[in-house]
Amino acid sequence: MASTADIILRPGEVILTFDDGPRAGKTPKILDALDQYGVKGTFLMLGSAAKANPELAQEVARRGHTVGSHTFDHANLANLPRQAALDEIARGEAAVAEALGGAGRLAPFFRFPYLAQTGFLRTSLLHGDMVVLDVDIDSKDYYKESAETVAARTLSRLDARGSGIILFHDIHQRTVELLPDLLAELQARGYSVVRLAPKDSGVFGRSVITAELSDV
Ligand SMILES: [Zn+2]
Repeated sequence: MASTADIILRPGEVILTFDDGPRAGKTPKILDALDQYGVKGTFLMLGSAAKANPELAQEVARRGHTVGSHTFDHANLANLPRQAALDEIARGEAAVAEALGGAGRLAPFFRFPYLAQTGFLRTSLLHGDMVVLDVDIDSKDYYKESAETVAARTLSRLDARGSGIILFHDIHQRTVELLPDLLAELQARGYSVVRLAPKDSGVFGRSVITAELSDV
């Protein structure tokens, strides 16, 4: 029943996603910037990273952000046999859930590493009531470029599109550096950062998205 087609943004709405963490020294600064602007993000954590930094995973959840998963070890699932790929997804989910402990629950949001998917895996996830989180705007914050260049590209793609799910990574210093100014610019340009959250019923739809307007 669940699908990304259910995540429909209104013009001006933005969902911020952060993949591959949590990472000591980086994720806490990302959290501080989001707090400063009173907005919530979605963190697609690696099972291995969450296992290595459980306190940080818990901190993300405690500060009200949505936590999903991104496999255990960032394997390219399109290159794995089907069962191995499903096992890698499940192992990642289990490790993130375990790291969260009682601090929060794992949301059923999943993102493919390298955005490398197959029809089989996508269908399997949907049947398992997982929501595949696609990317509308790739910040490409993994490029060895300045924070300013990455921010300018992201904003210009967002302006061209009008709304969207933006991909960042909370493991890069340039992302830490660009985020406060980017949040200020989103606000100045009239965008609303909305929070992506699962409904308790397990049914996903437009109402899973609740607006969290910046109060700065
Ligand atoms: Zn990734």
